Amino acid sequence: MRGLMQEHPLLVSSLLEHAAKHHAGAKVVSVDAAGAVTRGTWRDVAHDAKRLAQALARRGVGPGERIATLAWNTRAHLAAYYGISGMGAVLHTVNPRLFPDQIAYILQDAEDTHLFVDPSVLPVVTAIADRLPPSLRAVVLMGPVEARPALPVEVLEMEALLAAEDGAYEWPVLDEHEASALCYTSGTTGMPKGVLYSHRSTVLHAMAAIAPDVFAFSARDVVMPVVPMFHVNAWSIPYASAMVGASLVLPGPRLDPASLFKLFEEERVTFSAGVPTIWTMLLQWLRAEPARRFARPPRLVVGGTALPLPVTEGFLKEYGVSIVHAWGMTEISPLGSTNVRKAENADWDDERFLPYSRKQGRPQFGVDFRVRDAEGNEIPHDGVAFGELEVRGHWTAGAYFNRPDDPAFTEDGWFRTGDVVTVDELGSIEIVDRAKDVIKSGGEWISSITLENLVLAHPDVQLAAAIPVHHPKWDERPLLVVVRKPGTDPSPESILSVLEGKIAKWWMPDAVEFVDSLPLTATGKLWKAELKRQFKDYRLPG
Ligand code: AMP
Repeated sequence: MRGLMQEHPLLVSSLLEHAAKHHAGAKVVSVDAAGAVTRGTWRDVAHDAKRLAQALARRGVGPGERIATLAWNTRAHLAAYYGISGMGAVLHTVNPRLFPDQIAYILQDAEDTHLFVDPSVLPVVTAIADRLPPSLRAVVLMGPVEARPALPVEVLEMEALLAAEDGAYEWPVLDEHEASALCYTSGTTGMPKGVLYSHRSTVLHAMAAIAPDVFAFSARDVVMPVVPMFHVNAWSIPYASAMVGASLVLPGPRLDPASLFKLFEEERVTFSAGVPTIWTMLLQWLRAEPARRFARPPRLVVGGTALPLPVTEGFLKEYGVSIVHAWGMTEISPLGSTNVRKAENADWDDERFLPYSRKQGRPQFGVDFRVRDAEGNEIPHDGVAFGELEVRGHWTAGAYFNRPDDPAFTEDGWFRTGDVVTVDELGSIEIVDRAKDVIKSGGEWISSITLENLVLAHPDVQLAAAIPVHHPKWDERPLLVVVRKPGTDPSPESILSVLEGKIAKWWMPDAVEFVDSLPLTATGKLWKAELKRQFKDYRLPG
């Protein structure tokens, strides 16, 4: 017997409609590259989004057409988010900090027809002017420019496109399984791969994001996404904030601590999310002046790379700011897990929970985990054994765009994350490595991240990376590549001494090399593939 309830497709446009209709009082504040502030409401965003949808329809943009953006967290970008997906086209967000080759590749692969560009990143587009995809019909400037760029395609202005429309537009009732957005992985190995989200996956993911043990959003929140809107849809914040009718503060490209702190205070931000680097810098800046205090300590969520414990501790003990550690991936929309207390550890005090908060936590409903070792057996939940994390769920990718048969997807319907994790008795995962970065010595695995974290405790070490180098007997052995703190000159022996007694003897790196810097990806993560390439001919002493 079928249920007798109404059926409405889960559509991205319905999130905006809800916010505009039921939360007209919530504000949307936006800062542009020059620091100018625009104030408005969700209703204004809805008006802009509808006018943009009208303009795109007038230009003949059809269902499923990919429309790219190269932009920061601004209101124009928010209107593009909703206008493009809402009218049935696919919002394709591109990271302006990628290498020009990667941007050109991504635009070609997606076959975008329009490219929306924040004026501040126009040089990125002119740099690849000769490699724009043949599919591209127009570049749309999202704000005023001093000089119009010379490009081989039509150049339009978003403001003029909007001004020509009246906003009297009804969102089409789409099939919820249609694609709404496209985002490419950061591509630390090989070329980036496209992940194609659907309206349904996006709305369900937003519903999970607002839950108490994830972002805990309410209509009273003032949310500031510091995580960029080109990085996995800013972790759903543009959608999740509309779903609850929260106010939104879009900080634009200026993410220095002083600019962020000003917004926290002046806009009374209650929640923010970003990568560890942002919060580390903010903490250092706050400490420089005792007068710098939050009038109302916000809640923070951090993810993207592991969160250093001293940062969590500093924010909590010195500023009363609690940080939730989250794990996710482009392929998982991105929210996969959060480390928030559950029944078994509800009564742990901060002293006990703080060291535990280094873990990436447990999945929310809609995400399922499985961890298997090299032989394919599920590992015991003892916090020690490790294996590769596999995920399935309502907002996990089932395939990559344009790449059928990628080995990341198992035959029985799981996505292989490439993250190597332990699982403890409470079901919390802890990432110990990337599958491609573990060092395989004599068939056994050595966690490069464990070595790196331990070595960072040496007072003279600024950065460290453990990478495999070829060994005739053991296949691979660990090499430690270290950046020294300025003005120090530690010996290899003194560096290795911090590992003694903390790791199995056979985990001990065979050599230490000193370098001036380590290669980073466009998203600021250690670029191990490049480092391994630099050391590919390295011969261990003796
Ligand atoms: P991306 O798709 O660019 O968001 O990168 C996803 C990858 O970032 C994951 O597979 C992890 O390796 C890493 N990552 C994300 N969140 C965390 C975290 N909280 N701790 C450690 N690594 C993380």
